[in-house]
Amino acid sequence: MAGRKQIAVAVLALLLLLPSFVLGSREDIARIRGDAFRLPIDCVAVPDSPGSAEVRIPAPPEGWPAWAQAIVVLDTPPGLVRLRRGEEVRCGLAHDARSTDSRFRAGVGAVFSAAPGSREPIIVTAPRLDTGSHGLTIRYGDPAPVQREDTLRFAVRMGGLAVVFAMLLSALLVFAGARDRIAGMFVLAGSAMALWLAVRSGFAAWPRPWLPGEEAMHLALQLLPVPGFGGLWYVALAYGRADRVLPRLYRTRHLVFLLAALVAGQWWLGGPEPTVFWRGFAFLLLLAMLAVGIACWRAGQPGGRAVVLALAPQLLVLGPLYGTLLRAWHAETLILGLAWYTVVMTLALSLRMGALARQRDRMKALAERDPLTGLPNRRAMAPVLPRRIDEAQALGKPLALVFVDLDRFKQVNDTHGHAVGDEVLVEVGRRLASQLRGGDMVARHGGEEFVMLVPGADAAEAAAVAERLRSLLAETPVETAAGALPVTASFGYAVLRPGDPGGSAGVAALLARADAALYRAKQSGRNRVEGDAG
Ligand code: GH3
Ligand code: MG
Ligand code: MG
Repeated sequence: MAGRKQIAVAVLALLLLLPSFVLGSREDIARIRGDAFRLPIDCVAVPDSPGSAEVRIPAPPEGWPAWAQAIVVLDTPPGLVRLRRGEEVRCGLAHDARSTDSRFRAGVGAVFSAAPGSREPIIVTAPRLDTGSHGLTIRYGDPAPVQREDTLRFAVRMGGLAVVFAMLLSALLVFAGARDRIAGMFVLAGSAMALWLAVRSGFAAWPRPWLPGEEAMHLALQLLPVPGFGGLWYVALAYGRADRVLPRLYRTRHLVFLLAALVAGQWWLGGPEPTVFWRGFAFLLLLAMLAVGIACWRAGQPGGRAVVLALAPQLLVLGPLYGTLLRAWHAETLILGLAWYTVVMTLALSLRMGALARQRDRMKALAERDPLTGLPNRRAMAPVLPRRIDEAQALGKPLALVFVDLDRFKQVNDTHGHAVGDEVLVEVGRRLASQLRGGDMVARHGGEEFVMLVPGADAAEAAAVAERLRSLLAETPVETAAGALPVTASFGYAVLRPGDPGGSAGVAALLARADAALYRAKQSGRNRVEGDAG
């Protein structure tokens, strides 16, 4: 029968279909009119963004060539980017792609007309170049290669972020499924860093702004590193198992949230913008996380190795090469670095979840098995009984339960010792299990008592099964270290009655009747079968 949840999901699914019935178009061709070609801004009248600076690009010694020149300004903070060569002025808002030349996707770009021999410099005005984490990149030259490179940058950034978000989504599912705290923190940190890089590399402007205005973007740039860096540190410590390897350091797992919040907080008190600090902050944090990872790895923690593997390539991105080799591509390398980090960590997280699940299964199997006889124990039998009873009642089929209790077993222990008693129990368990047919189950109920569940057996069949087991025990003595010992047991069976309740109440009724039958068997001389006729 479908539960409330399933019904709710089904209703929800039907509701999702509703709009297509109501709004659905019968036409095969969709005609959707686009926005106006470009959000026009008056490049001369619009004021410069606060903290704007000028960069001059001189003409080549022989003057500009006889063909057009493209220029694209990458990685600026939100604000106005103005490009000027002599009388020609172009501009665009870095935080609103609708205002920029659509031939350029990764930055604010323009194409200046051919001006053969002209020696006018190109003058770039871009916002807030003083902020430490923003290194401005300007690419210019013949239009085709500049545009191709701009598209390549866009593709790399988009692809990198797509990987990041796919990984975060799967980590989110791990978190939702297992309530794993590290996965949750990883998703928080990863999302903050990904959003930060997305805003930094112009995606908050694309295809139209999705943050409410320039100020919001600016704020995101300043503040997203707080949860980002804070979460990265937590994940490095928790995932590397620093709680075992470096317990004192592990207590600082929330510290970076605090430090980063302090860096952001001093801004409110009139200090410098947090972005001035983030690059140095990130580099120091990276070194600290790598040190933690290496220490945990050396202590034999696979989590430490994953942390090192995930973070080591970031040294290229944030380390000394930043200023030279990767300088012109640093937005892309930052995004690819984050993609690498999320891929490695997500993989490591799911491997860890797999290992945890296997461990849990092993624990469950151990908890449900009797270590002496290897049979299922009472704990394992408990959930099976009410299920089988419900099934039998639903199908109108009989079901029997047989209690087995060894006769005068205490004497075996008293005479030959506990170890010999154990040998007997093991052999009895083996003989009982050898008689199981599909659907039957035998468990060690406790001490020297066993219980057997025989679905499909009515009273006559239950009596026959019990009788067969009885003779199987009684006819062959058990070989032990103390020689062959005769062993008998008493049997009490009960079958499900038409009026029995279902579920656990039915279990109690059945067990009580089988127990009573067993008691009768003991009373009337042992080594015999007594039944509750049903
Ligand atoms: P009855 O015929 O009335 O059932 O007599 P009994 O001696 O079998 O019954 P009683 O309940 O007095 O004793 C059960 C004994 O089973 C007592 C205990 O020492 C023994 N026993 C229970 N669990 C184990 C075990 O795991 N190993 C061994 N060797 N003995 C066990
Ligand atoms: Mg007993
Ligand atoms: Mg006994």
